[in-house]
Amino acid sequence: MGALLTAEGVTCRFGGLVALDGVDFHVDEGEIVGLIGPNGSGKSTLLSCLSAGQRVDAGRIRLSGKDITRRRPSTVARMGITRTFQDARVFGELTVTENVLLARDWTGLPPFGLLRAPERSARDRAAMLLDLVGLCGLAEEKAGSLSGGQQRLLELVMAMMPGPKVVMLDEATSGVNPALIAELSEHLRLLHREENVSFVIVEHNVGFVFGMADRIVVLQQGRVLAEGAPDEVKSNQEVIDAYLGA
Ligand code: ADP
Ligand code: MG
Repeated sequence: MGALLTAEGVTCRFGGLVALDGVDFHVDEGEIVGLIGPNGSGKSTLLSCLSAGQRVDAGRIRLSGKDITRRRPSTVARMGITRTFQDARVFGELTVTENVLLARDWTGLPPFGLLRAPERSARDRAAMLLDLVGLCGLAEEKAGSLSGGQQRLLELVMAMMPGPKVVMLDEATSGVNPALIAELSEHLRLLHREENVSFVIVEHNVGFVFGMADRIVVLQQGRVLAEGAPDEVKSNQEVIDAYLGA
């Protein structure tokens, strides 16, 4: 059995700049992959390529063996890949629940045809997910009135809403009060267990990502510098020199 999501030789250029240069990457079913590397190393671009938000200049991306390289973002979301963004993207004037229901609509799923949750109405599923991350008490509040950390959790719920196979989180801890970061990892673990989803976690918070991930992939200048179990990567001299520091 192959990996759930695979990228082979993915190259992405912006004019003369090579943001990704022949990247091989994969995610197994139920796996939590940490993606780290210096600023500008191509982490966000890789997430964009995997979710079809960014055109790929060369290479192949497959989900469960199906080629998704040139599909539309909404199609890829419906097939099971969703993401959050480095800059929080919620609709401040809409309520928390309305934001979550919108996230379902983006994928173009019929209201009651939710993947892996056909027996639940969309509202029930939204309430269930909000409850899992401790936001159910704020369901009818305007999203704009939430704290930075709460908005991060809301984005996470929005990404979970369509019942994806892979959720990719771009800097989920940025702007989150340090005291709430431990809570965020508990919420992620709970969602991981309840929804049997794989996560790709792009992070600058090294403690957070090394604590969460089954496997770490290190990017440097658009190439994979190293990958392996967190302990292996932590003691890899090249990684220490390029990213982790002394
Ligand atoms: P990271 O997320 O690891 O910080 P990015 O994927 O955002 O890195 O960026 C990788 C490289 O691609 C950087 O040099 C960045 O400036 C460039 N880049 C990213 N997106 C664009 C874009 N839309 N247009 C031009 N250059 C971009
Ligand atoms: Mg980035």
